[in-house]
Amino acid sequence: MFNGLRRWRENRRLAALAVPPEQWEAAVAGWPVAARYQGEERTALREMALRFLLRKGFASGAGFHITDEMRLKIATMAAVPVLKLGLNWYDGWYTVVLYEGAFIPNHQQPDEFGLVHEQGEVLSGEAWEQGPVILSWEDVCAAGTEEGYNVVLHEMAHKLDMRDGGVNGAPPLGDLDAVRWHAVFTEAWEDLAARERNGEPLPIDGYALEDPGEFFAVATEVFFEVPERIHAAWPALYQQLSAFYRQDPLAMARRLA
Ligand SMILES: [Zn+2]
Repeated sequence: MFNGLRRWRENRRLAALAVPPEQWEAAVAGWPVAARYQGEERTALREMALRFLLRKGFASGAGFHITDEMRLKIATMAAVPVLKLGLNWYDGWYTVVLYEGAFIPNHQQPDEFGLVHEQGEVLSGEAWEQGPVILSWEDVCAAGTEEGYNVVLHEMAHKLDMRDGGVNGAPPLGDLDAVRWHAVFTEAWEDLAARERNGEPLPIDGYALEDPGEFFAVATEVFFEVPERIHAAWPALYQQLSAFYRQDPLAMARRLA
């Protein structure tokens, strides 16, 4: 009942939002991942991005001037992981805070508040449990240029992970086998750690080894940005991520090529 009413209200607001498809196309043109979604899937992605904008507010960090193009691009990146899961997976929080560049968090004891932040003093992104997602626009724009890097996908993965309490590298798994999930992730983790010890090239950023939550977030970035790297290194991990997100970005990329 609630969802029906919510959808009805949202549909009316969506119609009133009146973002021309060309405006959305221009906003996402610089992000190669968006090009993989064609036909009905492209329409669905655009619509979900607009629904994201109806449900979430953007707040400026340090007076940064936020444009519609920025909102559309970030909303589209956020929509990609939940395109098949549903936007309700982002329920329970409302704000995206956007800074021009890397920012210094103003909290003192992060761990008490259940938030996840990235390495070091100066951050590219941050996600609070039941609180905002904080992003650096410069880092958002680095997606598609640095291989596999995408701070929006990263923070959204933390948001999905938090849905069953805490950040532990496992979002609510539904029909998926949790034992299998854990085993596959552990195997990939140990392989990544071994490669790092041996000074070998890493399929995903070594930051993934901070903790299981970071592993899931970094793996999600690479799964969508350069799926062939995850698939080549750890096919079982690719399969788990594909089953969870209900998407096969490698097949989509190959269809496009
Ligand atoms: Zn993180």
